[in-house]
Amino acid sequence: MKAALLYKNEKKLRIENVDIPEINDNEILIKVMAAGICHTELHFIDNVLTAGKYPIIPGHEVSGIVYKKGNNVKDFNINDKVILYYYNGCGKCDFCINGYENLCVDPRMEYGFINDGGFSEYIKAGEKNLIKLDDDTDIYSIAPIACSISTGIHAINKVRPKLNDNVLIYGVGGVGFDLIQLNKLNGCNVFSASRNDKKLDIAKTLGSDYNINTKNEDIVNKVTNLGGVDIIYDLIGSNETINNDIKMLNNGGKLILIGYTGHDININPLYLIIKEIQIIPCVGNTKYELKEAIKLFNEGKIKIVIDKFDRIENINDDLEKIRNGDAIGRIIIKFD
Ligand SMILES: [Zn+2]
Ligand SMILES: [Zn+2]
Repeated sequence: MKAALLYKNEKKLRIENVDIPEINDNEILIKVMAAGICHTELHFIDNVLTAGKYPIIPGHEVSGIVYKKGNNVKDFNINDKVILYYYNGCGKCDFCINGYENLCVDPRMEYGFINDGGFSEYIKAGEKNLIKLDDDTDIYSIAPIACSISTGIHAINKVRPKLNDNVLIYGVGGVGFDLIQLNKLNGCNVFSASRNDKKLDIAKTLGSDYNINTKNEDIVNKVTNLGGVDIIYDLIGSNETINNDIKMLNNGGKLILIGYTGHDININPLYLIIKEIQIIPCVGNTKYELKEAIKLFNEGKIKIVIDKFDRIENINDDLEKIRNGDAIGRIIIKFD
């Protein structure tokens, strides 16, 4: 099967032919129909994150159909449409028992991170990691929700925004577009920031109330003149953005960290203390949050912004486009 592989310390994925995975009695072989490209892939390429093995097939936003199943698999049938939940925790630690497999202390698998993910024509998974989708689901468009909307829901569940809160989405793009919609569903006033006017145009169509181009506007001035914000979702996580966040947050404000750069940040704790600012980091999502994301998608309450569908042979160009900030929404690798 065709697959994109990341080798240790290589800057580009290699497109290779590899064996289709063998399944045991408890596993399912999925024919991958679509796999969204997430910014996290660049963190692996840049060695900000280390994969569980090399070479690895990245890709953790995967949808497809059941192609083959083991003898013990009872809850899925051939041709069922499915989406992958990419964490596979130990099932025994306190976090797993509470449903927080994203925080498992002894993870067994994490598709595209520890073991092979979905930038390939087939992927194998256990029943526990799959959620069955309705037959009429658009199997190509739904793939990114396995990470982007679910991560947004995880952030919302951690921060619990209140009606009329002022919230800033700092760095709109994949997860940012979802956060705009989720915060509007919660009755918030949404501020969006980006260096890209095209992204801000999309932000407006999704309901963002105030839109700031950080290339030619002073974000701190603009936001504080508009009354400051109660919550900031920081999707960049640089020293500059985090220090701006502290200036823009109102007293008692919450800074949700979703993006990161791999570099240290310098913060004067005094400014956190006098405003009682809480910093709340967010990683991934729970399986329940993925189910919530599917429901919102099916009900049409959340739209996925898609830059384009592309073939796996072009994945390195797509990654470059994402790196340059030029992807307006998700790029999805499509298989047929
Ligand atoms: Zn992701
Ligand atoms: Zn665990």
